[in-house]
Amino acid sequence: EAKQSGKNRLHIFDPVQDAELKSRAGSLAELRQALNAGEFELYYQPKVHMREGRVVGAEALIRWNHPERGLLLPAAFLPLINGHLLEELLGDWVLEQGLRQASTWQRQGLDLQLSINIGARQIQRPGFTAHLAACLASYPNVPPGRIELEVLESNALDDIEQVSRIMRECHQMGLRFAVDDFGTGYSSLTYLRRLPAETLKIDQSFVRDMLDDAEDLAIVQGVIGLAQAFRREVVAEGVETQAQGTQLLAMGCELAQGHAIARPMRADELMAWCAQWRPCEAWLRA
Ligand code: C2E
Ligand code: MG
Ligand code: MG
Ligand code: MG
Repeated sequence: EAKQSGKNRLHIFDPVQDAELKSRAGSLAELRQALNAGEFELYYQPKVHMREGRVVGAEALIRWNHPERGLLLPAAFLPLINGHLLEELLGDWVLEQGLRQASTWQRQGLDLQLSINIGARQIQRPGFTAHLAACLASYPNVPPGRIELEVLESNALDDIEQVSRIMRECHQMGLRFAVDDFGTGYSSLTYLRRLPAETLKIDQSFVRDMLDDAEDLAIVQGVIGLAQAFRREVVAEGVETQAQGTQLLAMGCELAQGHAIARPMRADELMAWCAQWRPCEAWLRA
């Protein structure tokens, strides 16, 4: 009986699929609510020139201040929104919030390059460049050349023709691009040649083990060589020790981010951090 009335209520009822949809939709609804409630926050990780001991910029990294579970990292919630409208909404928020912060720093006399991570769906959606242009127009004191958009290597390769075209449109506005997690996405030299990004970011997985693993070291060396040959800037991410930084400098990579320099921090901490940061002696001598 119950079964039958259930059938009458729902035309197509697949209990497994239904439970899946409900748990997913629940989380999506929660995330959407979190966005409305202002529970997301951008943290900023400094990017430095190791040899010159100079702070050159910062990367915006999203965090969720969850009311019960505390501070959540992107790995805990970004996968949930993949391919959903919320990915675009959150992406819009990140862009807007990042530019607003860049504008504040400019006003305070802190002229940093700001790197913003862009999802695959976000960059490929119709009207992305128009939206970007509108955002930039609302913060006229932010030089577009100080904004760098980071696109994952795997996403860029997904549809290289379209992504390259969008990149060129953004270049017209003065923006810059970085290929994030470089080395993880099977880039061939031909692909790199067609990808109009100014910067390659060496994936942290290679940096992490490069002092113990000759193959990782070779990959890091290879990416640096590639960047030099193609006249791209190269940044190492995930630099956790002074020794890794020294080795990177020896191989010709001068820009770095990582815990050896600073962990991602709140926006209002960055100014003071920049004022007091000193590179290690070894890097200045390298
Ligand atoms: P990513 O863009 O490659 O960012 C680098 C990640 O490495 C960040 O993790 C950062 O906190 C972490 N990290 C930095 N230095 C070190 C280090 O020395 N050691 C180690 N072990 N980790 C380090 P996070 O913040 O958890 O972000 C993870 C990924 O989530 C990012 O990787 C990026 O792909 C994505 N993401 C973060 N924020 C956004 C966003 O606003 N939009 C989009 N689309 N993706 C984002
Ligand atoms: Mg990134
Ligand atoms: Mg990365
Ligand atoms: Mg990564």
